[in-house]
Amino acid sequence: MSTALHDLTLAQMSQQLASGQTTSVALTRHAIERVEAHRDLGAFLHVDAEAALKEAAAADARRAAGQALGPLDGIPLAHKDIFVTQDHPTTAASKMLEGYKSPFDATVVARLKAAGTVTIGKLNCDEFAMGGANENSAYQVARNPWDTHRIPGGSSGGSAVAVAARLVPGATGTDTGGSIRQPAALTGITGIKPTYGRCSRYGMIAFASSLDQAGPMARTAEDCALLLQAMSGFDERDATSAQQAVPDFVAALHAQREGASAEQPLKGLRIGVPREFFGEGVAAGVQSATRAALAQFEQLGATLVDISLPRTELSIPVYYIIAPAEASSNLSRYDGVKFGHRAKKYSDLNDMYRKTRAEGFGAEVKRRIMIGTYVLSHGYYDAYYLQAQKLRRMIADDFQAAFQVCDVIAGPVSPTVARPIAADEGHQADPVAEYLADIFTLPASLAGLPGMSVPAGLGEHDLPVGLQLIGNYWQEGTLLHAAHAFQQVTDWHQRTPKQS
Ligand code: GLN
Repeated sequence: MSTALHDLTLAQMSQQLASGQTTSVALTRHAIERVEAHRDLGAFLHVDAEAALKEAAAADARRAAGQALGPLDGIPLAHKDIFVTQDHPTTAASKMLEGYKSPFDATVVARLKAAGTVTIGKLNCDEFAMGGANENSAYQVARNPWDTHRIPGGSSGGSAVAVAARLVPGATGTDTGGSIRQPAALTGITGIKPTYGRCSRYGMIAFASSLDQAGPMARTAEDCALLLQAMSGFDERDATSAQQAVPDFVAALHAQREGASAEQPLKGLRIGVPREFFGEGVAAGVQSATRAALAQFEQLGATLVDISLPRTELSIPVYYIIAPAEASSNLSRYDGVKFGHRAKKYSDLNDMYRKTRAEGFGAEVKRRIMIGTYVLSHGYYDAYYLQAQKLRRMIADDFQAAFQVCDVIAGPVSPTVARPIAADEGHQADPVAEYLADIFTLPASLAGLPGMSVPAGLGEHDLPVGLQLIGNYWQEGTLLHAAHAFQQVTDWHQRTPKQS
């Protein structure tokens, strides 16, 4: 029996394109059909089938002409609607940007296009990437293909749904406080947030600029490596993009550790297990799946080291001061003058600002603008913002102390499996409960460290659990290597939702 096209991983698609077994047009047409058939999942905000098929035909023509092509050439992808795109509208899932079309492509998008990828469309997310359930999208809810009455996580919820439901083999995401790792975990796919500065933020609609980072979401570590390779690298148009050599991430997957063997490819790898990541509040099913995954890593030759990240809990107040502070500044540009929504009726300039912003922003975005403005205001700045910055440094220092005794850190991504969609249950999600659920992803974000989510098992209600791997700065290769070794001996990443 031949595997259906949508069951192929990105790497397998790439091989089939190279061997002439399939074409980009066939892959793209199949992806579009599945996107249409799964509209009810709410993954896409915009699809352009015609443009995608044109790009696919061009990829096939390049191949027919015998050009030397990279591994992503002809692969259909979709982008989180936080990345601006020239050929598709960009909304950040906000009414504020309804109908907005960017005059340029985000660098990450431009690089993936230059690598020959085909763009199917733009993916749903939380408004301005604020949220962890995709319930803050101004347009539609996104549904978890494992149970369509549950959230897919967020803010890169549409990306997670599109990959988990096998509509596309890979997607871009952004992660400010967990928005790649958490939805990847809740939908059983693989995602990596690289080191802050690894990928350009140019053309990524800003939420909290000192935290925002782009990254790939796909089914396997190998696919993430292929995508990250194309997405990474210095960009002079982003002042915080790093002048850091980009290693060969695909080669890193197969790296030989000293003393390693075929059975024990991770021999000598020290995995730090933070006590604080296994406390109360972590669901039993998440705990047991995570522990079982750690035991599997031991089988692969790794050793587990008990470590402490003492300020884990503080990462919540620290993040929820710093991120809104930066957001309140970044979002001041949506004033009805330069671009985006403008109120129809107003009496004077101030009234225009007020009405435009009241109409254009959703409740969570307004909440953050107000919190951010408050913590930055004269008289409160020292008490909140400055204190948070000091603690942020201490959280980063705690990681450096931990990396003295381990090479990577592992624990759960999310304390629970995917919860039901609040609207389906006739209520609204509690924002504070939402903030608390970010506890395990925020520390690495605040420190600027790379973090990854790897499918690690099933927890409560047979829903996916993600294992988080955190590395030291620029050590994405180490994370991808460890995840790849794990995926060679487990099949959690191959499990697919029943319905799709
Ligand atoms: N859930 C977090 C928040 O709402 C993270 C969002 C993100 O990483 N973009 O801020």
